[in-house]
Amino acid sequence: MIKLLVMEKGAGKGIKAAKKSDPSNDCKYIMSLIPGYLKGELTLHEAKRFTRHLKHCDDCREEIEISYLLEEGIARVESGETIDLHADLQRMLEGTETAIQRLIQFRTAVYLMESTAVFVLIACVLMMVFR
Ligand SMILES: [Zn+2]
Repeated sequence: MIKLLVMEKGAGKGIKAAKKSDPSNDCKYIMSLIPGYLKGELTLHEAKRFTRHLKHCDDCREEIEISYLLEEGIARVESGETIDLHADLQRMLEGTETAIQRLIQFRTAVYLMESTAVFVLIACVLMMVFR
C-alpha cells in the first residue's frame, strides 16, 4: 500500500518535473527545510515560512508528502500500526501552525509585560526625582 502510494506520487512528480523543470528559489529553500521539519528542528521563522509556503505550493506539498511517507510510513509498517499518513501529515502541519500562533501570542504577551515593567520603573524613578 505504501509502496503503491509512493510510486504514484513519484510518477506524478516526474510529469510535473518535465513540465516545470525550474522550481523557484523559494521552493528550493522550502524543500531544503523538509528533513528539518520532519525532525522538528526548524526555527520559528523557518517553520512560519514553511507552513505558509505549503498552503499555496502543490509542488512542495507533494515533496513533503513523499518524504513523510518514506520516513513515517516505513517506521509505522514495521511497528504494525494502522495508518492514514495523509491525514497525519495534514494534522502535523495544522499543529505546527497552531504552535506558531501560540508562540507568537506568548512572545507578544511577554513583550507587553516587559514594556509595562519598564514603564512602571520609569514612572517610579520620575516620582522619586520630582517629588
Ligand atoms: Zn514550493
